[in-house]
Amino acid sequence: MTDKQPVYIMPENVQRILGKDAQRLNIMAARLVADTVKSTLGPKGMDKMLVDTLGDVTVTNDGVTILDEMQIEHPAAKMMVEIAKTQEDEVGDGTTTAVIIAGKLLENAEKLLDEGLHPTVITRGYRMAAEKAAELLNSVAINVKSTDDDLLRRIAMTAMTGKGAEAAKDKLAGIIVDAVKRVTKNDNGLKIDMASIKLEKRKGKGIEDTELVEGIVLDKEKAHSAMPTNVKNAKIALIDAALEIKSPETDTKIQINNPEQLQAFLDQEEKLLKEMVNKVTGIGANVVLCQKGIDDVAQYYLAKQGIYAVRRIKKSDMEKIAKATGARVVSNLHELSKNDLGNAATVEEVKEGEDALTYITGCKNPKAVTILIRGGTEHVASELERAIKDGLGDVSAALQLGKIVAGGGAIEIELEKQLKSYGQKIKGRQQLAWNAFANALEVIPKTLAENAGLDAIDAITELKARHEKEPNAGLDLSEESSSKHVVDVVKAGIVEPMKVKLQAIKSASEVATMILRIDDVIASSGSGASQGGSMPQGAGMGGMPGMGGMSGY
Ligand code: ADP
Ligand code: MG
Repeated sequence: MTDKQPVYIMPENVQRILGKDAQRLNIMAARLVADTVKSTLGPKGMDKMLVDTLGDVTVTNDGVTILDEMQIEHPAAKMMVEIAKTQEDEVGDGTTTAVIIAGKLLENAEKLLDEGLHPTVITRGYRMAAEKAAELLNSVAINVKSTDDDLLRRIAMTAMTGKGAEAAKDKLAGIIVDAVKRVTKNDNGLKIDMASIKLEKRKGKGIEDTELVEGIVLDKEKAHSAMPTNVKNAKIALIDAALEIKSPETDTKIQINNPEQLQAFLDQEEKLLKEMVNKVTGIGANVVLCQKGIDDVAQYYLAKQGIYAVRRIKKSDMEKIAKATGARVVSNLHELSKNDLGNAATVEEVKEGEDALTYITGCKNPKAVTILIRGGTEHVASELERAIKDGLGDVSAALQLGKIVAGGGAIEIELEKQLKSYGQKIKGRQQLAWNAFANALEVIPKTLAENAGLDAIDAITELKARHEKEPNAGLDLSEESSSKHVVDVVKAGIVEPMKVKLQAIKSASEVATMILRIDDVIASSGSGASQGGSMPQGAGMGGMPGMGGMSGY
């Protein structure tokens, strides 16, 4: 034994990247994610066409949707995807913004690393600047109330820009604001029940035919043609069980030797189905909404008794109907009682070409609404649905905190300016990091300008000059804007909820500091890192010198 003998503390197939290399590669991967979504930012952002392994196509401008579909595997890149998801969950909008800011924070940090700043100095500076930014956001924000309809519509429009909603944005913004107001309760603090807004998507007709229905719309027709088309004063039973006899779980064998036996068996089956139907009608239900199947014979008996029935309703829809009508979902038919029934003024089938929809209106709980989204094709309707979700998210976010900020890059330039003026008081090297943070915010107006085909440097220079006196100077890039692009964006109605920016800055700085603090990557073979997982475009880094076999890095 000599002391030259190597010591292994990990299996041989574990790969390791240390220090600067780990940092640089993580930063590079994260920046690639930001670069990928950059071109989609803002009203003039481009769309991406995503094709999954089954050949299904999604055309979208939505940051989180793009990142989700890309199946990113690089661990640092995945952390960027996570912030988009957090942003989506917390606010429902601003995903691209959050990712782009994070990318820029990392880019600027890289320069500071090159200048010899220690990562902990950078992360401390970033953290302090992020806190101050949140404070400044609060102080420059504009108040908004649930009665400020016009302002709320403007928020919805800003949220939808660039997402295929332009042709009907006034109408759609009106629908979004109405829907949110309907599910908002204002006693003892504001409560917004977004779960009570159901989105139902239909292809055919144009996006301008999108409508708000007070109640629930199901993409389902009545189970049997002889059932009534319209039931007034509906007493609704919600059943989470099949109105069928065969239960596939039990292994029963029936021996039938002659025709009489077969007949007896069929009679018995019919009798049981009839009993099921009688059970439902016996307690006074005239509408049966079933999560599972309904046997043909049961359908016949239901129709005969004038019951409107729908089968195979989605679980999430059953829950919404329960909430809207006050019904209880019952999974054992024997337990069904009068008290479980829900109420609605009308349940009716509305024909639409070949298909039909079921409308449940005049619900016990008038807060339940459906936005019936229309679009000429599946793709148009899907992208419009994402736009409407962003609009709903933004209007609700604005009401939750009661504050909005100037869009079109105005808030970012204003924050940069104010942060820099505070930065003068920061001592030592941290000031460099603080300023790098402030500079990073500029990436938003810069990208908005680039995506609109403007000269980004000119735009930023003009914005900065105007911000000497006008905190709301920003870019107006809407279709109808004149050749003058730098305007008072609040007057132009380009406003966003403060919550979107608050969350975007918070999560961007969190992920940037997290990535900066990693100086050792230990990857077992088989993990995404060592397999060279699927990287975003242009990420072919397998050929980088000195990378050993760690092709994913
Ligand atoms: P995100 O996923 O971050 O929400 P978007 O593609 O929705 O990305 O773009 C949001 C950005 O576009 C915000 O900075 C917002 O202020 C800006 N924006 C929206 N409408 C306009 C407009 N009409 N003119 C200029 N900027 C706009
Ligand atoms: Mg958006």
